[in-house]
Amino acid sequence: MNSFALNDNDTTDTMDINDDTRGLNYDENLLFEKERTDTPGVDLPTLKGTSSRTGQPTRKNIGLHQVSEPQVVRHFVRLSTKNYSIDSGFFPLGSCTMKHNPRINEKVARLPGFAHIHPMQPESTVQGALAVMHDLQNWLAELTNLPGVCLTPAAGAHGELAGVMTIRRAHESQGNAHKNIMLVPDSAHGTNPATAAMCGYKIRVIPTKETGRVTVEAFKEALYADGDDGHDIAGMMVTNPNTCGLFETDIAEIVDLLHDAGGYFYCDGANFNALVGKIRPGDFGVDVMHINLHKTFSTPHGGGGPGSGPICVADNLKPYIPSPIVLKEGKQYRLERDGERETSCGRLKGYQGQFGMHVRALTYMMSHGADGLKRVSEDAVLNANYILSQLKDDYHVPFAGPCMHECLFTEKYQKENGVTTLDIAKGLIEYGMHPMTVYFPLVVNGAMLIEPTETESKDALDRFTKVMKKLAADARNGETEKFHDYPVSAPTRRLDEVKAAREPKLRWKNS
Ligand SMILES: *Cc1c(COP(=O)(O)O)cnc(C)c1O
Repeated sequence: MNSFALNDNDTTDTMDINDDTRGLNYDENLLFEKERTDTPGVDLPTLKGTSSRTGQPTRKNIGLHQVSEPQVVRHFVRLSTKNYSIDSGFFPLGSCTMKHNPRINEKVARLPGFAHIHPMQPESTVQGALAVMHDLQNWLAELTNLPGVCLTPAAGAHGELAGVMTIRRAHESQGNAHKNIMLVPDSAHGTNPATAAMCGYKIRVIPTKETGRVTVEAFKEALYADGDDGHDIAGMMVTNPNTCGLFETDIAEIVDLLHDAGGYFYCDGANFNALVGKIRPGDFGVDVMHINLHKTFSTPHGGGGPGSGPICVADNLKPYIPSPIVLKEGKQYRLERDGERETSCGRLKGYQGQFGMHVRALTYMMSHGADGLKRVSEDAVLNANYILSQLKDDYHVPFAGPCMHECLFTEKYQKENGVTTLDIAKGLIEYGMHPMTVYFPLVVNGAMLIEPTETESKDALDRFTKVMKKLAADARNGETEKFHDYPVSAPTRRLDEVKAAREPKLRWKNS
């Protein structure tokens, strides 16, 4: 290395040019690595009997960072600028519904009456907050036509757990504890079989490889696999529209057969953005469904979250949902007390869910109104079909469209020239685009699942398809080598993903 410029990542006297820092784009190391033992982060009076300004003469480095306030501020500000987010650009992750989070949501959630309350406050002092939750329960019940709503689950996967626990509780209460099999299509999100297994169910897989959908024939084969009338079938978990971006067209007939066998239909509601305001899942036979407020209803995802995954259930399952739910008695709101509803499958977590997300989701619903929510799903489906139509000649479409709110391609054409889905994803990064969801769903090889959402402009979609077309053309022209180098311009290039998976470094060690 040259012996010249410095950034504050350097902690020794031999400060070198940091090869990874270019164009004011700092490569940020760990706070622990900034530590030095010879200067204090704060000014302390010199201790008597020791020459060390830090007062740590006998303790060797104990891992406390000796960094100053400006260093700490810069560290965290730099890290914060490394977050690629929906606020920085297009984010076409299929099945994730990365839509714009309207600022009105944030404004309302920050009102002191919502932001500064505590879950243990007396109910008489938080009537407004309880009213918000009660209204949200009503909106969700109305939009799904599933009248029993519990807002507590903290994410979609947590909602699945709540929903399958509800199903299990119902079977147990109805003398059907022998029902121990959950049907799950092979296109399902991994959380579906994982949840069923956590609840003690055996998983029976319904194949969808040929058609991209659950057919009545494939369903019957799974339902009656034991040569009986579906005696042991507890239920079925299906995403509709499914993870191939297709509406499950045979669902009504399938659900009738399932109900005849005494099973419950769990709908994974992660893809509700394709349906919201247009059709109500309760109308096509759904018994239980979770809703990802952080997908369909624009509350922030993940690290910017937390998420929220309420469940909605049909009348016959209402007695079994987790508690507490918000009740209205006269003009007063209150939370259900523990044990008040004996049939409940119990409490999922402390308190009553991610209240800040409830405020944001209700704000979104009320600011859109019924007509606005309908436009949401219509525009989401339109945008996905636009991308499908633009790219269908460049990328292999495994299942014929039209699609719902996301479109699925595979690497088939590019693979002929040695270019894979991973190469295309890295190429997108090179051209300033966040990649789509890759290698999911598992039912096709080298899947690329693209969900634009309704909040992107036609310009944004055109920029994306232009890059995708360029990558397809480069692959067609045999420019394979350069694909393997992508991304060239990003601070971090190709990672050794196999090594990262095999030898994960889960904590920092002071070497
Ligand atoms: C996102 C998603 C989930 C899980 O939701 P989380 O909130 O991430 O736990 C489940 N199923 C499908 C189809 C999803 O897209």
